Amino acid sequence: MDSGNLWKPPSQADIKRPLILAVEDNEDNLDLLQTVLMLMDYSFVAARDGNTGLSIAQQYQPDLILLDMMLPDIEGIELAHQLKQNEQTKAIPIIAVTAMARAQDRERAINAGCNEYITKPYDMEELEGLIKHYLLNNDTV
Ligand code: MN
Repeated sequence: MDSGNLWKPPSQADIKRPLILAVEDNEDNLDLLQTVLMLMDYSFVAARDGNTGLSIAQQYQPDLILLDMMLPDIEGIELAHQLKQNEQTKAIPIIAVTAMARAQDRERAINAGCNEYITKPYDMEELEGLIKHYLLNNDTV
């Protein structure tokens, strides 16, 4: 299925649940994330490229962003920079997700403003733990 940059705005029933934005261009990864996040009872929006991710983040103020580092238009690192420089989005925690596992990649992601960095394929327990951690920390601010 190629649905381009189509995404669904949160429904009325979603409003009280934490909203998680996944910026990810791989459909299999998106399906997996959507399944996990729905099981965790979070609402979920997807962006399949960086510029769409930036505009959804600004418009919807998600509680957390899962950010793929390899996107079709701009690098995940660059998007993290932009999110952190924008008043509307700078407080949103970002978890970088990537297939690259080199130490310097992690450092680049953290330096760009990502709060955490995990490698694909996802360890679902690790991902769940991180999501809960950052949602909780955000709520207490
Ligand atoms: Mn990718």
